[in-house]
Amino acid sequence: MKTTSPSKKSYDVVVIGGGPAGTTAATLLQRAGHSCLVLEGSRFPRYHIGESLIPHTYGTLDRLGLLPKLRSSHFPVKHSVRFVQPSGEEADPFYFSETIEGPRAQTWQVERSEFDQMCAENARDAGVEICSGARVSEVCFDGDRATGATVRFHGSEPVTIGSRVVVDASGRATVIGNQLGLKERVPALRKASIWTYYRGGFRRDGIDAGETTIFMIQNRGWFWYIPLPDDVVSVGVVASPEYLFDESHDLDQIFAREVQRARSLARWLHGAEPVAPVRGIRELAYLNRETVGNGWVMVGDAAGFLDPIYSSGLYLALASAELAAGCIDRGLQEDDVSAETLGQFTRPLWDGVEIIWRLIHAFYQPSFSFRRFVKRFPEHRATLIDCLVGDVVNKEMSSFVDALATMVDPPPRLRI
Ligand SMILES: Cc1cc2nc3c(=O)[nH]c(=O)nc-3n(C[C@H](O)[C@H](O)[C@H](O)COP(=O)(O)OP(=O)(O)OC[C@H]3O[C@@H](n4cnc5c(N)ncnc54)[C@H](O)[C@@H]3O)c2cc1C
Repeated sequence: MKTTSPSKKSYDVVVIGGGPAGTTAATLLQRAGHSCLVLEGSRFPRYHIGESLIPHTYGTLDRLGLLPKLRSSHFPVKHSVRFVQPSGEEADPFYFSETIEGPRAQTWQVERSEFDQMCAENARDAGVEICSGARVSEVCFDGDRATGATVRFHGSEPVTIGSRVVVDASGRATVIGNQLGLKERVPALRKASIWTYYRGGFRRDGIDAGETTIFMIQNRGWFWYIPLPDDVVSVGVVASPEYLFDESHDLDQIFAREVQRARSLARWLHGAEPVAPVRGIRELAYLNRETVGNGWVMVGDAAGFLDPIYSSGLYLALASAELAAGCIDRGLQEDDVSAETLGQFTRPLWDGVEIIWRLIHAFYQPSFSFRRFVKRFPEHRATLIDCLVGDVVNKEMSSFVDALATMVDPPPRLRI
């Protein structure tokens, strides 16, 4: 992404962050006839975690026009997810084609530096102005109404850019959430993660070559194993911080210890070469008490993040950005950018997130297992796969949720 300075002093929409959520919102709004400026703090291509797409991203990727690029990319095609027990016993994969027909039943494992650049170039092709090396320090308000953003270009003096709507797509940095004190922990979900990359780990063949494999470990923790291009695999562990950091704070040491404990995973990595530093996050989950206000909207991780177990992050980034773009488009056309108008997408979105939240909560309860759930409620296997593919927004799932509640008490509702 080339570094540029904005051509104007004000835009219809200023987007903070050029990740998938930010560029999706900007592309769709620019195409709808609104001038959009994306302010991205880093310089692309930049590293990012979160490589596994789920199939329900298909619709947004299609409307963005990204499918031909993904089809001709070197990203492994993902047809399924498989769980491996701590004993090494492998469950049958959940193939997405069990509930989805045709090309929508497959998706991709993406290298994020490349995928995010692909999304950004697509936005630029749509006419969006993107400035990289442009770090937003704060959102400007007139009373409670957002009016633009203050930004430093390449570390220079701060400049204020005006806008009718500010979209916060700053990911975990959550610019508005921090500025307004809206960001909160999720006490019922305290998980940490440590991850790295190897070249030369075990790879399956054929339709399973691009599967995500989840290795369960004791203490309700788990590893992801995600095949990427060039024979690289992304491998990461998720568990409670108390468990992961009980003996050491050294990420390399903890990661090596956990791989050795997960024996079947250690076998898959035997002889593989580490090709990246070990990285970690001590507290994965957070939410904002409010995600929409007068003249502003949060999308993607800026609004909140729960857990990577179902690879729902990129789906929620794309879906929230597309839904928000629809409301912002209407608001701009009708000259009404009130929280009420901009926020009309939040209820259906967060109802879907509540379903994912229940499944995340269930996953971490020792009394719960998918195998037992599907054995007891075979009629809900299809709905479970709907959840795993991301088909949760605007869906009626009460009988599935009731069945789940017979096996595990529901968690407290999310605040939003
Ligand atoms: C351990 C882990 C594993 C994960 N695994 C998966 C997975 O397998 N599949 C999946 O779908 N999701 C996964 N996720 C989630 C996924 O990474 C995110 O949901 C996704 O990246 C969200 O996209 P986004 O556009 O909202 O934010 P981001 O991709 O984080 O983009 C935000 C952008 O904002 C920029 N920015 C931040 N602050 C500022 C500022 N002040 N000014 C200007 N720019 C700024 C950043 O540089 C960044 O480019 C995982 C997350 C974690 C933590």
